[in-house]
Amino acid sequence: MSELFSIPAQKFLEERNCTIINSERVESVIVVDERIVKIITNKSSYENFDAVVFAIPPYALDKISFLDLDDRITSHRFQLSLDEFKYSSILNVHIWLKENPFKEKFYGLIESEIHWLFNHGKHISLTVSSADALCEVENDELIEDFYSELEIFFPIFLKENVVEWKIIKEKRATFVPDCASNELRKSILSPFPNMFFAGDWTDTELPATIEGAVLSGKIAAQKSCSFLNC
Ligand SMILES: Cc1cc2nc3c(=O)[nH]c(=O)nc-3n(C[C@H](O)[C@H](O)[C@H](O)COP(=O)(O)OP(=O)(O)OC[C@H]3O[C@@H](n4cnc5c(N)ncnc54)[C@H](O)[C@@H]3O)c2cc1C
Repeated sequence: MSELFSIPAQKFLEERNCTIINSERVESVIVVDERIVKIITNKSSYENFDAVVFAIPPYALDKISFLDLDDRITSHRFQLSLDEFKYSSILNVHIWLKENPFKEKFYGLIESEIHWLFNHGKHISLTVSSADALCEVENDELIEDFYSELEIFFPIFLKENVVEWKIIKEKRATFVPDCASNELRKSILSPFPNMFFAGDWTDTELPATIEGAVLSGKIAAQKSCSFLNC
């Protein structure tokens, strides 16, 4: 994924004199005269900018404080309903093997609790979507269930061949694209002219996908360019 998206995007931006800062969390913003004038993170603060695009999930945006110059919360002036999104989970199991017996790059499993098996060469990963019930199960119990399932579908798989494993439970992996979310996505409009939203959850008419996230970025770029007359 990094090779396909992140590294080319980073290269594209850096070639155009953009600075990328990683591992820094936006915590609050200062609003003056209906414009965002300062971004405060857990490590630093930024001002002297024309526009801001918030490309973070709704539950993260909901945690950001909108303050005035006296540090008073101004968010009562708008209601974004960000807490109304519902989410679906994805569970990934990564398994490292002494010897990898799998021949294909990926497998789709039918009538199994495992939906996909991806073969990364040095290790395999198993993916389960809509995994809310499995996310409640202890990892030690889960891994044994997955071994049993693999042994049924792939007699070439031997549990004794496992070197290491790791389970990642993403409880808010994707928002649920139900009828209510259609209206919700349309209703979330930026309260300030120099503030824009991007992300798969914005009103792209696509479900929670990389394609939706990319489209949302294009829409945010068009809106901010139009605001900046560029
Ligand atoms: C396990 C899993 C598997 C998936 N598989 C697929 C798939 O096969 N195909 C597909 O199309 N889609 C898939 N998706 C969905 C896809 O990953 C998302 O739709 C897409 O990543 C959304 O992009 P985004 O830019 O909107 O948000 P994100 O990718 O979530 O990016 C938001 C970023 O904001 C950062 N952030 C959050 N809060 C703050 C803050 N306060 N300050 C600064 N930064 C912050 C986060 O760290 C994150 O880097 C999958 C998702 C998961 C979780």
